[in-house]
Amino acid sequence: MVKARKTFKIITYGCQMNQRDSEMMADLLQDAGYEPVAREEEAGVIILDTCCVREKAENKVYGKLGQIEKLKSANPDLVIAVAGCMVQQPGVAEKIRQQAPYVDLLLGTGNLQELPQLIEEIKAMHQPRIVVGEQEGPVVEDLPRRRARGAQAFVTITYGCNNFCTYCIVPYVRGRERSRRPENIIKEVKELADQGVIEVTLLGQNVNSYGRDLKDGINFAGLLERVNAVEGLKRIRYVTSHPRDFTPELVTTISRLDKVCEHVHLPVQAGSNRILELMHRGYTREHYLELVADLRRHIPGISLTTDLIVGFPGETEADFEDTLDLVARVQFDNAFTFMYSPRRGTEAATMPGQLPTATKKERLKRLMELQNSISLAKNEALVGQEVEVLVEGPSKTDPDQLSGRTRTNKLVIFPGDQSLTGRLVRVRLTRAQTWLLKGEMVDG
Ligand code: SAM
Ligand code: SF4
Repeated sequence: MVKARKTFKIITYGCQMNQRDSEMMADLLQDAGYEPVAREEEAGVIILDTCCVREKAENKVYGKLGQIEKLKSANPDLVIAVAGCMVQQPGVAEKIRQQAPYVDLLLGTGNLQELPQLIEEIKAMHQPRIVVGEQEGPVVEDLPRRRARGAQAFVTITYGCNNFCTYCIVPYVRGRERSRRPENIIKEVKELADQGVIEVTLLGQNVNSYGRDLKDGINFAGLLERVNAVEGLKRIRYVTSHPRDFTPELVTTISRLDKVCEHVHLPVQAGSNRILELMHRGYTREHYLELVADLRRHIPGISLTTDLIVGFPGETEADFEDTLDLVARVQFDNAFTFMYSPRRGTEAATMPGQLPTATKKERLKRLMELQNSISLAKNEALVGQEVEVLVEGPSKTDPDQLSGRTRTNKLVIFPGDQSLTGRLVRVRLTRAQTWLLKGEMVDG
């Protein structure tokens, strides 16, 4: 008898942390004999790795579950799992079970290692399972060996967050901040470099506070020094930086280390000091502007990106104009702009002055218009320059072209052979758009 193929498909929502969790689940399943497939219709196991930072992200998951129900009706052996941050919120696992009783497994962020075993149990017993433990367990290090997927890789350096920004659900679903030991991080980076990875992105909700809980003197600057020394590695990125914890020592360290890329993602969230205080961000707009000036002084050509929230409770037109003013002053290369979304259990959700959606939408539109014009002008200023690009593969919009990123994290599209995927090439930038640059390869 031919043994049935064991196949899986993971659908990931949200941030790079979730992408990394999804990779870890894929490694665990592949070690257990499962094969990844491209289409949900071909999969014996479908996993939704969810996000709950904004309501929109949650709605997408409910919509997807509705679609998957049809696959389950056609194939009752299909195992459907919902994992990730959404499940970690009180009452949500039960709500999903009620709304989508065909879901077989609800798996918390701290229980991912149990996935293969749980799938086998579900297949054998035909009983749904809810496995949601404490988010704050110890950092698990005995995971399967990392499988490199191409030339780029994410490496988690901290789990959780201690900041409790008043709008944010992350500390509730991911627990308090826990740093991985530097030797474990370096071991993982070396393993990846040995498999051909040339660019790593170090991940943490606030990378700048890395090491505080280890209490042995290591900090983020020290960690970067050690990662920079890993042979074979060419580029180091890191997200996310918290402006409050970006020390002058860190600015000089990143300016000195050759592999650390000239790009900082530095979420400011708002430009009004009153709103920053209500958000519990721990810095002022003046501090932020000084930090930007310091980064630009030490690292010429650095690109800066940010996250911005409009319509935080109590945000007045004047507060919002402070945000527009800050954006105009800083001239960010790019920004992720969000409408404030109340999250149950967070402080801001019950603050007075919740704004109507129409106001949030109108402010978002104005903010995006401003940022788009800045992004375009920034890109236009680069036309004519020759830059190093790491080829990521065929362009999503035009498969005959290649797409890749500069050290400053600019997306570049240019003609070239797919065999260059994973390589560093030189590209002359020829045309600018808001979100990307077009270019052509140059020799050498
Ligand atoms: N730790 C990072 C930081 O401090 O910036 C990012 C965490 S969060 C996953 C990514 C972004 O989502 C935040 O920077 C913020 O702009 C946005 N965000 C978080 N909670 C939000 C909410 N309730 N409504 C709208 N946007 C939110
Ligand atoms: Fe959320 Fe603030 Fe922590 Fe970022 S720093 S994850 S926004 S609480």
